[in-house]
Amino acid sequence: MSEPFQRQPPPLPGGHKKVLLHSCCAPCSGEVMEAMLASGIEYTIYFYNPNIHPLKEYELRKEENIRFAEKFGVPFIDADYDRDNWFERARGLEWSPERGERCTMCFDMRFERTALYAHENGFPVMTSCLGISRWKDMKQINSCGVRAAAAYPDLMYWDFNWRKGGGSSRMIEISKRESFYQQEYCGCVYSLRDTNRHRVTQGRERIQIGVQYYQPDES
Ligand code: SF4
Repeated sequence: MSEPFQRQPPPLPGGHKKVLLHSCCAPCSGEVMEAMLASGIEYTIYFYNPNIHPLKEYELRKEENIRFAEKFGVPFIDADYDRDNWFERARGLEWSPERGERCTMCFDMRFERTALYAHENGFPVMTSCLGISRWKDMKQINSCGVRAAAAYPDLMYWDFNWRKGGGSSRMIEISKRESFYQQEYCGCVYSLRDTNRHRVTQGRERIQIGVQYYQPDES
């Protein structure tokens, strides 16, 4: 079994000690959580992801994240699932490709709420694990995070690159070690549609919600 806490991120910017971590799921946040624990950074998880569809998938991703947070006693804020607002903001962007305009809206919406919570609850720094996935455009995510934090003079966005220093491979190692639920699409109904369309062209089965889990490596 892998040893936990194998690497440490640099200190928080601005000499701060506390950060609000926006998390989308357990696989993406696992390495970020362990690395921050190793650095003695105090953090709270903010789970605000009204993009995730359907509800069953949303609950699965959230419960896995709660399970891992409880293991370390990390505070977990379960925010709204206001999907009506998400669909309202996504109107007209239904066919926008992944990493396009709809995703900018999606990151903006999630980070705006995260920034508001940080501001109202005394967090001087916010960050996100969204960029650890190689499927994501880190520049796009960081610009959304900086924009959201800029609404409050007492808040900054920490754009640390969690992929570096082995972060990407640690993310998979931890997911296997913990047998996390393995989501097979980004999250929204449109990403589910597009992933299924692609799978059909490859002769693969459509995604089944709630079936796929990471398997521990045999050693
Ligand atoms: S593809 Fe992912 S980031 Fe883009 S809108 Fe859908 S859930 Fe949000």
